[in-house]
Amino acid sequence: MANRVIPAASKLLKTLRPLNSAASSTTISAISPPIGYAEKPLQSPSGHAITAADTITDNIFNLDDADKLFASVSTPTLLRAALNLHAVAFEPLVDMGMWVMKSRLMDTPLIRDVIMGIIRYTFYEHFCAGENAVAAGRSVLELNEAGLRGMLVYALEYAGDNDSCDRNLQGFLDTVEATKSLPPSSVSFIIMKITAICPMRVLERVSDLLRWQHKDPSFKLPWKLDTLPIFSDNSPLYHTLEKPEPLTPDEERDLELVHQRLLKLSQKCSEANVPLSVDAEYSSVQPAIDYLTYSSAIIYNKDDNPIVYGTIQAYLKDAKERLLLATKAADDMGIPMGFKVVRGAYMSSEAKVASSLGYKSPIHDSIEDTHACYNDCASFMLEKIANGSGGVVLASHNVESGKLAVAKAHEIGIGKVRQKLEFAQLYGMAESLSFGLRNAGFQVSKYMPFGPIELVLPYLLRRAEENRGLLSASTQDRQRTREVLKRRLKAAIF
Ligand SMILES: Cc1cc2nc3c(=O)[nH]c(=O)nc-3n(C[C@H](O)[C@H](O)[C@H](O)COP(=O)(O)OP(=O)(O)OC[C@H]3O[C@@H](n4cnc5c(N)ncnc54)[C@H](O)[C@@H]3O)c2cc1C
Repeated sequence: MANRVIPAASKLLKTLRPLNSAASSTTISAISPPIGYAEKPLQSPSGHAITAADTITDNIFNLDDADKLFASVSTPTLLRAALNLHAVAFEPLVDMGMWVMKSRLMDTPLIRDVIMGIIRYTFYEHFCAGENAVAAGRSVLELNEAGLRGMLVYALEYAGDNDSCDRNLQGFLDTVEATKSLPPSSVSFIIMKITAICPMRVLERVSDLLRWQHKDPSFKLPWKLDTLPIFSDNSPLYHTLEKPEPLTPDEERDLELVHQRLLKLSQKCSEANVPLSVDAEYSSVQPAIDYLTYSSAIIYNKDDNPIVYGTIQAYLKDAKERLLLATKAADDMGIPMGFKVVRGAYMSSEAKVASSLGYKSPIHDSIEDTHACYNDCASFMLEKIANGSGGVVLASHNVESGKLAVAKAHEIGIGKVRQKLEFAQLYGMAESLSFGLRNAGFQVSKYMPFGPIELVLPYLLRRAEENRGLLSASTQDRQRTREVLKRRLKAAIF
């Protein structure tokens, strides 16, 4: 199949018609106004700046009434959640737990069994949806009763060879099959990491070759299928400093097998009408991930129904440009493209790799820049779906981004349900935000990893790291669950 021409980002940015009348400059924020748009913020009595988003959302999106937020949660469930959230915020406990998990103590069967038992009834129950698809289905039903939806994540991380990729694929196919016995639309997405169905070395080789072709468009890649733009003019190319060798026949065969796996899964998702969202990972292999995702999206995203979604990590400096280029190309090809927008989870390793090669980190210089980029990408995608094309998952625990997105959706008249807009938070985290968005009438999903405890350990370690300390995303949930439990206890006694 012919390769698609990848237009230069700067040219596209200049020629694109602004999506709203106020816009005239060449940045994405101009094409779609940033969602935090109040020019002269007022001060609230508590001292924080009152933005236009605050004013619009005050009536529809309220996180102040904790009793209303947690009304659908039973007291035993709330108590267990509160205990777990407090445990993961207690730094010495988390430090010790992480040290033990990585130590040789885990080689002693008795100690290992005790530790795994503790983890199972605490962190695992809190952050994971169950050991298998049937157990995960039960968790989806509970969420469904609470007015939320589930994104099912069979928690497989890396596969080293074709046999394990095939086994993992079967796990994903079984997950799609399991959704058929659940209430319609209770599962919003099947989530997959490409590294579970493609050996890492193939992703590295393909990413190298794609980067080299971006540097030198005359460089031929005979195996390359139709895709959307993967790079912008500002994308980092430092991972590939020398011209890579072409794929060997064995490597080409391995790549073809990966394509076949992804097509099989996309086909299954299309038949079940449950979209497939492909997670974003390290920037060293993201070009190959995007390439595979887009080539499958081109086949399966039809009419107004995006089946295959990509992921944009807003912490990357080139995120906005790549989003713009990919959506523009998809529009030109008549393909409804869906994106999950996240901030990004691999900050420290990105910085380490870049500095080891003598380059600046590809991540924004400050968290404020990441927030601004996230909100711009969200705003841009909201405008797109308001105009009737594609879909977006706003995956974040950031309350300010949630408020801004609610205000923007309200302003441009996006219907709350049955539009291709989904808010999403991780299972066991940011519950008040999820319930607040649900109460405001939006579709909200929880990202629900499931699988045997040994498989999900790397995921649990990342959650433990993310939740530690007083400043973690779960701080407000801890406070609110405590308040609600106190009030329920008082009401029961008096
Ligand atoms: C449903 C769901 C799906 C997800 N899928 C993916 C995925 O596919 N790929 C992936 O990589 N991540 C994924 N994540 C994780 C996500 O990228 C974030 O790590 C996590 O959600 C925390 O970000 P936040 O938006 O909730 O906001 P916040 O907690 O407000 O922001 C924290 C984030 O800001 C960024 N940041 C922090 N400090 C700085 C700094 N100094 N400079 C620049 N940026 C900074 C980092 O990205 C950090 O994670 C997912 C998260 C959710 C909720």
